[in-house]
Formats: sequence, C-alpha cells, structure tokens
Amino acid sequence: MKTKPSTVKMMPAKQDDDSIAALMEQILRKIGEDPSRPGLLRTPHRADKALRFLTSGYETDLASIVNGALFQEKCDEMVVVKDIEFYSMCEHHLLPFYGTMHVAYLPDKQLIGLSKIPRIVDMFARRLQLQERLTQQVAETLQQVLKPKGVGVICEARHFCMMMRGVQKQHSGAVTSAMMGAFRDRKASRDEFLSLVSRDNRSSY
Ligand SMILES: [Zn+2]
Repeated sequence: MKTKPSTVKMMPAKQDDDSIAALMEQILRKIGEDPSRPGLLRTPHRADKALRFLTSGYETDLASIVNGALFQEKCDEMVVVKDIEFYSMCEHHLLPFYGTMHVAYLPDKQLIGLSKIPRIVDMFARRLQLQERLTQQVAETLQQVLKPKGVGVICEARHFCMMMRGVQKQHSGAVTSAMMGAFRDRKASRDEFLSLVSRDNRSSY
C-alpha cells in the first residue's frame, strides 16, 4: 500500500522528464535540421536540461530562501543592493532578456541577509516573465517577507526578442520600477535610492 501509489505517481513524471527532449528533437526537424547528425545527437537532452534550469524558479521555495535569514535590528537606514545581474526568459517569444536590478528597502526593525535578495531575484527571473512583472514580484515579495517601511526596485534589461528579431535594436534597453511605501510616498527616500544607484555613483568593478 505504501510503495504502490508513489510508483504510480513517479511514472507520469518520468515520461514528462523525457518529453521536453523528445519535443526538442521534433523542433530540430521542423527547422530543417537533422537531429541524427553528430553535433546534434545530445542537443535535445542538453536543451531539455537548460530549459528546466532556466525555469527552475517555479520550483523554488521562498520559505527555504528566507528561512533563518531575518534579523531583528534597530536599523532604520536604507539598505540597497545594486547591480544584481539576472537572466530571464520573455514569455512572449521564449527568448532571453537580461540585465541588472537594484533593490532597496527601508527597514522597520527587521533586516534580511543581503545574499538572499539576489536569490529572490533569481527565483522570479528563472521563469517565463515580463520585465514589468518580474520587477513587481521582487518588490512585493520583499514587502511581504520583511514588512519594511518601503521597498524600491529598478530593473534595467535588454531583450533578445528586440535585439535579434522584430525591431532589431541592439542598444535599446527597457527600465521598469516598482516603488512601495516610503519609496512611493516620500520624495526624499526615492531620491536617495535613485542617487545611490545612478550610473555616476556606481563602482566600476
Ligand atoms: Zn519577447
């Protein structure tokens, strides 16, 4: 009784594991390639793995990222983590978009380990996304987890769907932002954040 249901459960998952690679092979045929030529033999398998990694954010558990990394502290100065690089996939074309995100919050007696912020960014970036939603989700998540006085997120990105196809503009980037709490209501907080992440103030490492 104990093992049988789990065996039954495993079967569809296993078939599903194989199916992305099988579909990739079909895609190769559809674009006029020969999946049996040596260079492509393992490609469906590699593409399967790559796609699963690039969308692994669906499986990431926020609680396990945040767990044990919240600290009670009487700090009320703005915390900024800037130039967080990220790589995501546009949900309209399944092509990459990538860039940097700047994340700030104004603590209310609670801090989060700094390294957790890039992990939260990755959790949402490794999904099929829109830049606007990615920006908003990072801000909302920090707001929920930390309950700070405010959160600000700025995201600058380049989209392969614009660079390689469509308008074919290689140097145009898109900027999105999400401002909550003090970052929305208080010009001083917003200005402080913007000046801290402005290009002039960025370290050139
Ligand atoms: Zn796109």
